[in-house]
Amino acid sequence: MSYDYQNIRKDFPILDQQVNNRPWVYFDNAATAQRPLAVVEKIQEFSLRTNSNIHRGTHFHAIKTTEAFENSRDIVRNFLHAKEREEVIFTHGTTESINLVARSFSEAFLREGDEIIVTEMEHHANIVPWQMACERHRAILKVIPFADNGELQTDLLETLISDRTRIIAVAQVSNTLGTVNPVKEIIRIAHRHNVPVLVDGAQSVPHITVDVQDLDCDFFVFSGHKVYGPTGIGVLYGKRRWLDAMPPFLGGGEMIDRVTFEKTTYNELPHKFEAGTPHYVGAIGLGAAIQYLQNIGIKEIGAYEHSLLTFATDRLKELGNLRIFGESPSKTGVICFQLDQIHPFDLGTLLDQLGIAVRTGRLCADPVMDHYGVTAMTRASFACYNTTEEIDLFIKALLRIRTMF
Ligand code: PLP
Repeated sequence: MSYDYQNIRKDFPILDQQVNNRPWVYFDNAATAQRPLAVVEKIQEFSLRTNSNIHRGTHFHAIKTTEAFENSRDIVRNFLHAKEREEVIFTHGTTESINLVARSFSEAFLREGDEIIVTEMEHHANIVPWQMACERHRAILKVIPFADNGELQTDLLETLISDRTRIIAVAQVSNTLGTVNPVKEIIRIAHRHNVPVLVDGAQSVPHITVDVQDLDCDFFVFSGHKVYGPTGIGVLYGKRRWLDAMPPFLGGGEMIDRVTFEKTTYNELPHKFEAGTPHYVGAIGLGAAIQYLQNIGIKEIGAYEHSLLTFATDRLKELGNLRIFGESPSKTGVICFQLDQIHPFDLGTLLDQLGIAVRTGRLCADPVMDHYGVTAMTRASFACYNTTEEIDLFIKALLRIRTMF
């Protein structure tokens, strides 16, 4: 069966509107994806009929809500192919998940003079928490560079790992370059040195099927709002052996076992890392989003988006005097570019006037900007509902803007 994007678009009523008197083209999907009706309706129905706090109540709707929340954990477990449901922790997003690991893992395992490795293409969310951990524990941050075509220089990893390396944190897909990094290979090398690996899956889970057992990653993190789900909900997957050995991140709520003023003991996984009232509405919405994604098929979505990437890249290159940042053969539907000498902020503003939403700026990736010696980029990123007709509008808009300069 061919990919039915027209029917898929019907699931996203938000796309069917005009912006500045033009059909709205949404190419800012790497920042956040739109939500299908299945997610909106699930949240609405839940909020209108069921809502009660989880885990604590003995009444009808408290039990129903707890079941729905825990059912979402099972959906995520199945989505990531985690071995145990207790290895799936709900957080508020990728950023919080990484901060949790950076804080808690470091407290347990990082000592003065130890080393952490990240890559040059990371989002700030996968740099700053590690830098903070290094400052707290007087450890050293090392960086795997990438080549100008956007490919990670994985061959340098062996030279960077030492007997002081405690953890490696790497994005499966770069939010600027679109590069799909060889994380399985990185994990294999790291494990040969007994070093665990955290994989930032914020930009990969909407486009690539993930199997944490096959990857053998130690931690995997992603955000709900980038996989067609709600904001404010995210996931931390961690192997039980690590999560058991790490101290809690935040205190209070369901993370306790018993509290006295002398000493508090902590709950079992996954609750140990879910302090306070979790964003259970978000988790339920995330479950619906994942089911929506699985119904279409992530492989099918990935292949379709790749066809959009190829089409858009070819059309952009035809414009001439256009620089694309990141041209790895292994890429998702993300294109960062510079057109002529037009500043990305001007370009983004003018594109918006023509109804087209793109991202401009430093894209939470200052080291990537520094690598190419630029202060900003323009980013177009595609999702399951985008079309070649929209890319045509985008190219037409770029041609029009060019004539204004
Ligand atoms: N990591 C990557 C690769 C990202 O692209 C993003 C967001 O753009 C993040 C982390 C942070 O995600 P969030 O803001 O949802 O926590």
